[in-house]
Amino acid sequence: MAGNDTKNRKAAKGFVKDITDVHEVITSKFPLVMGVRKEHVAIVRPEKPGNAEKFKGKNGQLDEAFKMLKEINNTQTLLIYFSGHYYGGKGFQLGSDEEFLSLEELQTKVLSCLSGVDYKSPTFPLSSKRLIVFLDCCSAPGMKVPRFEEKSCLSLVQLNACRPNQEAYGDAENGSKFTLFFKQGLTGRALGKQCYNIMEGKIKQCQECELSGDLVTLQDLNKYITRHLKPYETSYQTVIYYDNASDLDTKIGYAIQYSIGLRFTFKLGDDEKRNSIQQRMFTNMISLRTILSDKFIEVMQPGSSEEPPLETEGVRDILCIEIEHGPKYVHRDELDSLERVMGAWYAKRDLIVSLRRLSDIRNGKVGMFLPAGYSVKPIKEYLGQNECFQELGPNSEEDTVYSVKLESLSEIAVQEDNPSLEKFGSILVDLEDALSKEKEYKMLHIIFPGAHGKQRNDFICFQIVKQNEED
Ligand SMILES: [Zn+2]
Repeated sequence: MAGNDTKNRKAAKGFVKDITDVHEVITSKFPLVMGVRKEHVAIVRPEKPGNAEKFKGKNGQLDEAFKMLKEINNTQTLLIYFSGHYYGGKGFQLGSDEEFLSLEELQTKVLSCLSGVDYKSPTFPLSSKRLIVFLDCCSAPGMKVPRFEEKSCLSLVQLNACRPNQEAYGDAENGSKFTLFFKQGLTGRALGKQCYNIMEGKIKQCQECELSGDLVTLQDLNKYITRHLKPYETSYQTVIYYDNASDLDTKIGYAIQYSIGLRFTFKLGDDEKRNSIQQRMFTNMISLRTILSDKFIEVMQPGSSEEPPLETEGVRDILCIEIEHGPKYVHRDELDSLERVMGAWYAKRDLIVSLRRLSDIRNGKVGMFLPAGYSVKPIKEYLGQNECFQELGPNSEEDTVYSVKLESLSEIAVQEDNPSLEKFGSILVDLEDALSKEKEYKMLHIIFPGAHGKQRNDFICFQIVKQNEED
């Protein structure tokens, strides 16, 4: 949750930056830092930092957020991160300087998400309900957790930027130092980044820039942030609150002990090159695929260089990331989620990035580059004349798309009076073989990817769709 500041737009922007950064850290899947699922995270923040808004009330961001969190079944751990202003007596400043959330209101809302008392934790010695709180604000208060009766199963671990009687200064637009070192502590080593204090010239060397062990405890993180705040000679100290917390309850994330780039083997035909991309936080496959497709284009330079430049989006969807189990064609496994890529990476498997094979069209779009001397022109002409193929018109990406029923594939015989058409005919035969028993998918799309009004003459893609996706 990011508060607002209508008198200081820069401060408001800083709060939003803090929360955006924290969101990236806690949801990052690769590297795995905390592993919170994105769909389980609610963000409350001003849409236009500095302009007054209402967070509370029906359809307000705050109420919507807690409504969503409450609907998640049997929540065991709830994490709250706040960056903004807090005033003793009033509470957390929300969308404007007239809107506040008192500490008591927050506690009530939080408890409603953690209800459903389970006295015996199935994950003993982890408490069955756990509240993790980070308050990056002035006069940061300690949360008071009421006991669920006597046999409390609720634990609290909390780290605040300062004591209740202190002021923690943010750094305006760049966000606060507390959040900066929160993020750096949890991810710095994994991302191979230099310590912020060295970059700022505050110190020459950082002796204690890593978190040891396998799991990060709140205490470790507190020590890390404290020693990194030292050069700033702040007039405040970070403080920890524990209540009813076992040793396991204080563990909040994974300590990552490596800092190398992500290595991949890029393959195109017989060509094979090893290369790496800089480690960064990935929260979904699209972000990884986007970076890999840029790298693939750069390293492998597929297709003819005389054609218009390849678009990232065009290549992104036709790449597959896989691992091999043996020398044969069938001994391979396409990794279709970040969790699987991450698992293979931690197991030190060789990650292969190549164009998805025609026979794997059920896994996604396939694409191919025609050899020198071949052209898509006669193929397009042919498709335009044959009534089995329907032109769908350029889509949003300016691709030219033709559609054909899978069941008609067997009736089509491409006249082989031209090398490009002959090649196309053989692709259709291969597709017909691969899809002969297909029930779920009904249509085949033949796509000529567009690129700012120009189309490459050597690039063609295929995709299968269910009938209802067509409209
Ligand atoms: Zn450091």
